[in-house]
Amino acid sequence: MKTGKLAQTYCVDNGRHFRLKDFDPADTGHWKSKEHAEQELQDGIFRMANLQDQLYAQDRWSLLLIFQAMDAAGKDGAIKHVMSGVNPQGCEVYSFKAPSNEELQHDFLWRTTCKLPERGHIGIFNRSYYEEVLVVRVHREVLKGQKIPDSLVGKNLWGERFEDIRHFEKHMARNGTVIRKFFLHLSKKEQKERFLKRLEEPEKNWKFSAGDIHEREYWDDYQNAYEDMIRNTTTNYAPWYVVPADNKWFSRLVVSAVIVATLEELNLSYPKVDSAKKKELDRAKKLLVNK
Ligand code: ATP
Ligand code: MG
Repeated sequence: MKTGKLAQTYCVDNGRHFRLKDFDPADTGHWKSKEHAEQELQDGIFRMANLQDQLYAQDRWSLLLIFQAMDAAGKDGAIKHVMSGVNPQGCEVYSFKAPSNEELQHDFLWRTTCKLPERGHIGIFNRSYYEEVLVVRVHREVLKGQKIPDSLVGKNLWGERFEDIRHFEKHMARNGTVIRKFFLHLSKKEQKERFLKRLEEPEKNWKFSAGDIHEREYWDDYQNAYEDMIRNTTTNYAPWYVVPADNKWFSRLVVSAVIVATLEELNLSYPKVDSAKKKELDRAKKLLVNK
């Protein structure tokens, strides 16, 4: 299957018709195993490296990749996979946890805006402003800590946040930031398996957090919040991809396919050298050769 096609399969291009239940977390396309996909996984990394080099050299576009998921869905692993193929000088990763006191003094887009990628760079958000319509929606008490004036917290708060996010992303897209958003779609059963591994395998113990088990009780609320978020914020300029996440190797394959297809669509190239620069290069070459 061509990379572009694989990317397109998991893209939500029409939010209105989107239902999470139509997507199977265990889907692996026509690949049967990690071994079967190994060559494509390597190819993706290789192509990403070349494309990033041109993105950086051209210094016009930037790419923002947003990762959202339930705990243990494999965000960290997917990010590590992407990073293994890119030059760290042109790529930054930021993880967003519960906001600090300073961050709570500002609007909900403030802290992430400061971390947006500069031109020529790839920015990766491990969680993002989308937490503002996920954890904050599932746990209403979090909203109280945000110090928003009471008269501004109305019935349509989530609708307003979706609207603000759409407008913000449109603004970024219009200025050269290409945005791609990944929801790593994990099944509740597979999450249980992964939590059990974290408890049983000593080298995974450090990843275990008792709070994650508690959060699992809100599984359905989160799924509803994710569905509504995707319905309302998938756009042609900043689409969501629902990435099957029960098999880590497959989610990595899809993520790198999306990145490669996105960068290829930009028709990147190395900056052209004008005649003055060409003369300068010729002179420098002569000097070097004659020394
Ligand atoms: P790991 O995979 O290592 O567990 P993580 O991304 O889950 O990484 P944690 O420190 O476990 O990192 O969790 C971060 C927590 O911060 C999550 O529970 C998330 O919901 C919460 N969080 C992120 N953004 C916000 C926000 N804007 N408001 C409230 N909570 C937030
Ligand atoms: Mg966690």
